[in-house]
Amino acid sequence: MQDPAELDQQFVWHPFTQMSDWMQREPIVITRGEGAVLQDSRGREYLDANSSIWTNLHGHNNPAINTAITKQLGQISHSSALGLANEPASLLAAELLQAANPVHSKDSIAATQPALTKVFYSDDGSTAMEVALKLGYEFSRRVKGIEQPRFLSLDGAYHGDTVGAVSLGHIDLFHKSYAGLLFETDKVMAPYCYRCPFNRAKPERADARLYRKCNWECVGQVEQKFENRKQTDKESYAAMVVEPLMQGAAGMIPQPTGWLNRVERIVRSHNALLIADEVMTGFGRARVPSEDDIALFACHEEGVQPDIMALAKGLTGGYLPMAATLTTQPIFDAFLGRYEEFRTFFHGHSYTGNQLGSAAARANLELLRNDASIQQRKALAEEMKRQTERLWRIPQVGDIRQVGNVIGVELVRNWQTREAFPLSERAGIRVCERMAEAGVLTRPIGNVIVVMPPYCTTGEQVEKIFAVFESSLREVFGPAL
Ligand code: PMP
Repeated sequence: MQDPAELDQQFVWHPFTQMSDWMQREPIVITRGEGAVLQDSRGREYLDANSSIWTNLHGHNNPAINTAITKQLGQISHSSALGLANEPASLLAAELLQAANPVHSKDSIAATQPALTKVFYSDDGSTAMEVALKLGYEFSRRVKGIEQPRFLSLDGAYHGDTVGAVSLGHIDLFHKSYAGLLFETDKVMAPYCYRCPFNRAKPERADARLYRKCNWECVGQVEQKFENRKQTDKESYAAMVVEPLMQGAAGMIPQPTGWLNRVERIVRSHNALLIADEVMTGFGRARVPSEDDIALFACHEEGVQPDIMALAKGLTGGYLPMAATLTTQPIFDAFLGRYEEFRTFFHGHSYTGNQLGSAAARANLELLRNDASIQQRKALAEEMKRQTERLWRIPQVGDIRQVGNVIGVELVRNWQTREAFPLSERAGIRVCERMAEAGVLTRPIGNVIVVMPPYCTTGEQVEKIFAVFESSLREVFGPAL
């Protein structure tokens, strides 16, 4: 057999990768996975500290998901959802809606919030967001009479790489080159407390951990955006799009408690839709379960139910590419009519409602409800919190942000001034390269290092992740002065 590393370097073009760098070093070729551990073709082992780009929930080679997929394989792998139904996709839709409407089981969401009643399947986070966009756009035109519906999203937002999703995004580095291809959307200040321009307090070391009380200027700016739009009804907002509780690819930016709630009230008071991108935060990633709530979706933390919810990544436990966009009955109804009225939602993908993905997703939901898995999620969040303490000692650690089982560590040149490293210094990349050499895999977002391992990661493995993180920081930046 030809060497897969050589074949890769000869033929494969990798995502979000400067390929001239990639060609300089032998790639890691993954051949096996077991729990939180990945193994490469040379027999080296690594901890999967970013859950294979935020997808894997219960670990690799999980017996329950393996069994569900194998069982489905013996029946059928795929038949089209264009004109046909299938069993696992039907069952999954019912189960997803039950999980996404805790109002019906736990009363944790007020009856005044909308109920999600329909599931539109697609393939990945980007397509789930394209569906959300198109539904929101057309609903606003047909039902609300907005001639040219616009969208509002957060500064630094990332919602995927297809053209619609990129239009919603506001990360210059990724999105600027394609400006000519995109439609215009508005951005509003994100609640990035660590770099809040309204917080003029002189930073102290301990301060970084506690976000100061403030006057919610960021919420005021959302209100202002909606107020400004009112004058031009033709172009009113169809929707505001948010990642609830934490913006992921923006740099793991958590929202202070109450932000989501306040923003939701503004959105609804202006008769716009709320679109929640739960691609990263969903399926328990951004929350810790409590006595009476298994805490699967981030927006429910503040009792908020969006009009449209986009799910992907963890939907299949990180096994297969599959996504779902959940919507309300009024949105669904806006597409009903006689055939010849052509109100149909003309959108769909070849693998929509795929049986293998649906079988994996059903097994995933069952695992998430399982008591052992709930305890794992709690223990992981606690252990990670404990382990972050060691990182505060390092001068290049400016901020540590944890939401549920997601951690972002922002590296800075100077913690007192919060001066950022220029991207050209590749600070995050250098730290992650060093961590990989020591057996821990993750990817940086600029100067933010992400730690988001699968829920099954043991206490010992968490300790190793952070010990390697700490030593890699010291090696890259040198000993503390
Ligand atoms: N939304 C969010 C919040 C994401 O984090 C991502 C991917 N990182 C996407 C959408 C796009 O998902 P995908 O890569 O599966 O297309």
